[in-house]
Amino acid sequence: MKISCRASSIKPSATLAITAKSKKLASEGKDVISFGAGEPDFDTPEYIKNAVKDALDRGHTKYTPVSGIDELKTAIGQKFLKDYNVRYDNNEILVSCGGKHALFNVFSALLDEGEEIIVPSPYWVSYTEIIKLSGGVPVIADTSSNRFKFTLEMLKKNLSPKSRGVIINSPSNPTGVLMDEKDIMEIADFVKSGKAGNDFYIISDDIYEKIIFDGKRFFNVLMSGRDMKNHTIAVNAVSKTYSMTGFRIGYTAAPKELISAMNSIQSQSTSNPTTFSQYGALAALKGGEDFTLNMRNEFEKRRDFMVDFLGKNVKSLKPVIPDGAFYLFVDISDVFKKSGERINSSSSFCDYLLEDYLVAAVPGAEFGNDNFIRLSFAASMDMIKKGLERIREAISWEK
Ligand code: PMP
Ligand code: GLU
Repeated sequence: MKISCRASSIKPSATLAITAKSKKLASEGKDVISFGAGEPDFDTPEYIKNAVKDALDRGHTKYTPVSGIDELKTAIGQKFLKDYNVRYDNNEILVSCGGKHALFNVFSALLDEGEEIIVPSPYWVSYTEIIKLSGGVPVIADTSSNRFKFTLEMLKKNLSPKSRGVIINSPSNPTGVLMDEKDIMEIADFVKSGKAGNDFYIISDDIYEKIIFDGKRFFNVLMSGRDMKNHTIAVNAVSKTYSMTGFRIGYTAAPKELISAMNSIQSQSTSNPTTFSQYGALAALKGGEDFTLNMRNEFEKRRDFMVDFLGKNVKSLKPVIPDGAFYLFVDISDVFKKSGERINSSSSFCDYLLEDYLVAAVPGAEFGNDNFIRLSFAASMDMIKKGLERIREAISWEK
């Protein structure tokens, strides 16, 4: 059967595939340790589940407006005001089926064939594919020379007359690194001045904004005091902040022309995001931050443990110290030198870990850097300890 060029040109999501593979192995009784998961391992808070049950009981089981229920859009607007001090009306907000779907709508509404989006690398696996699906071209900007921090210089180097925007994801998936506020300010000034083009936008993916360590603070262009609302497309979701990945609720705040175009696309594809999930998201946004703070503290402990363990016991694996999110991006280039022929790429290393030691990890190549693997610490401390012992065992040439 002939498959469309557009579909043939994209890869399936490796992060989802690896998460599914380890869940399947576990369900078959295999003692697999998964460092693959891109979702918090905490249960969704009870008050959120209750809000969904209550919504079902109250009969909220039918279509809602395509862009989401008014109460939820208002709560999202209040979040933007509280967190970034920027006011959004409901017609500048669209609720979609997860952050991924929000991004899909953004790029579908923004890009014409051949137009470019600058994607700092390493990048989350789906950015490049969603841009391609929308007819656009991802232009990869390597950040490895600057400890994975994207800068204005990198943006300028990758600009072309076809550029329509840049993605900022800070803290980032897969490195967990936060951009410097100074760099965000410089980019804001540059974009605002029109030097990046008159129709150029900062796509701010703030999905990990509440999972930040060491007392550091989250910062995005909307907080720059530069009145960036007209130049920013802010994408977020309740998925990670409240451990609600299965609810599939994400949202976008952007200039109303773009929101209206995204609304049309959504009206012809998914219609509204799942009605009772929207009530869960509403409860989440109104329910305070205690759950998220506890989860964040737990992630920080796990990060410290992993960094300490690798530093002491597995010297050929060198982690980037994440400022946030729940991923450890680990440099494995020493493994290539020391392991002989068998391991010569991030995917052969991940295959080796899974096949011989039942440890799942995601190859860095999927995020644009083959010298790394990603270890998620969305797993219990016991699992992490067990998994790291197995990795120590796997790197036997260190003994
Ligand atoms: N952006 C980033 C950087 C992510 O890691 C994810 C994780 N899936 C998403 C967006 C989308 O999340 P979701 O669709 O589950 O809301
Ligand atoms: N964002 C997560 C990850 O990177 C979840 C899976 C996905 O949607 O990619 O693993």
